[in-house]
Amino acid sequence: MVPTARGAAVLLGLLLASCATPKQPPPNLILLSIDTLRADHLGCYGYARRTSPAIDELARSSTLYEQALAPAPWTLPSHAALLTGLHPWALGIVDDCSAIPDGTPAVAEALTRAGYATAAFVDSGPRGYLGAARGFARGFASYSHAPFPGHGRNRYDARATVEAADRWLESRSPKRPFFLFLHTKSVHAAPALDAGEWPYDHPDAYVRRFVAGGPRFSWREGDQVRGALFLMRLNDRILRGDAPSPPLPPAAVEELIGLYDAGIAYVDEQVAALTAVLRRRGLARDTVLILTADHGEAFLEHRFVLHREVYENLLHVPLLIHDPRNPGGRRIARVVRLEDVAPTILRVAGVGDRAFGDARPLPDLDGSEGGPPVLASYGPMGGTEAYSLRDGRFKLIHERDGAGAFRDALFDLETDPGETSPLPVTDAGGRALLSSIEQRLAHPRPSQSIRMGREAREELRALGYVQ
Ligand SMILES: [Zn+2]
Repeated sequence: MVPTARGAAVLLGLLLASCATPKQPPPNLILLSIDTLRADHLGCYGYARRTSPAIDELARSSTLYEQALAPAPWTLPSHAALLTGLHPWALGIVDDCSAIPDGTPAVAEALTRAGYATAAFVDSGPRGYLGAARGFARGFASYSHAPFPGHGRNRYDARATVEAADRWLESRSPKRPFFLFLHTKSVHAAPALDAGEWPYDHPDAYVRRFVAGGPRFSWREGDQVRGALFLMRLNDRILRGDAPSPPLPPAAVEELIGLYDAGIAYVDEQVAALTAVLRRRGLARDTVLILTADHGEAFLEHRFVLHREVYENLLHVPLLIHDPRNPGGRRIARVVRLEDVAPTILRVAGVGDRAFGDARPLPDLDGSEGGPPVLASYGPMGGTEAYSLRDGRFKLIHERDGAGAFRDALFDLETDPGETSPLPVTDAGGRALLSSIEQRLAHPRPSQSIRMGREAREELRALGYVQ
């Protein structure tokens, strides 16, 4: 039978109706950055201690990236990459006065244009490493620096961050999807308050779970040098070559790690509190939560404490995407970069599915191809300068020591994941990595700087960054 024109039109209409799926409304988005959280101290990344039951639970229904790498081992450049999709070298972010250059597209701007309500709560002063003065507020309708209203002098407390987020969710208009950027420094080394001296300062109950019998080591030199500042001075002595050998007794290193782990356990409870807020407010089913970190932390595995090297303990960060519309439980093994989070956020929001800055959306599935080469750098700051380029299993580290001489070391991460047995840079592969770093060093990007002022210097000094 030959269909009539009318019959064909009806058939076509039915076909179109059956193919068309109702367009999903854009989801809400929360980007949670847990400053200084190294991936291998979480249960879902294989840590034996029970630091992270809530994050582990979240990971079971998330896409977890097993090898997410930060472009720098410190706060300012890593977060700039996270929110712009650009590598810190492309942004010219090289030292502690750097800022995101004016006119750089930021992910929050694209979301605002797409109709999202946007807000941020960051553990930074206005001129600190995530301050509005550095260009981080671009695109956000509201950008709040810690301490948040009603939280007294304790500047860095993930509980305060979650409570501030909860109040913002209460006040927002339910008619628009939202993008909320939360940044906490609760895991970061801390200024010693009052008579305290612990370099990672957390409530006793958490500390006692990870430091048997409580801390014993004296984390001070006189009255003034305590907490994070004690660790910074230790790094300076190591750099000058006048630290004891080893710089800390093994029992002190163990205690330091316990104090750090206590902070993870504390933040983990706040992650549970955040997911409870989403459930209580009826947002759990349409809010995508991205959890990550800007860099890790060192405990003398190589040369230093804190974070001024480019080994994997400092660059390997957790990254998981919990999308309740597509609860996965997938693990992606290929190497990904922190800057790839920006285009991924836009893809999840339905704003774009292509590159943003220099980055590409994160893969949903493991492909057969390897990950992109990953470049990371530190400094030159505080007498230290370090660069690394990882391509597949090989990684070259190029660093300048206190005397000004460069040192090169090649590592095979498959056979030497702890980067303890450097290979000579003699074969073609190693030399190609080195020459790629040298070429980039020879063509520095122009940078944009701010004047920090006394308050910002005090803030960074208390965190163990500047003298
Ligand atoms: Zn940081």
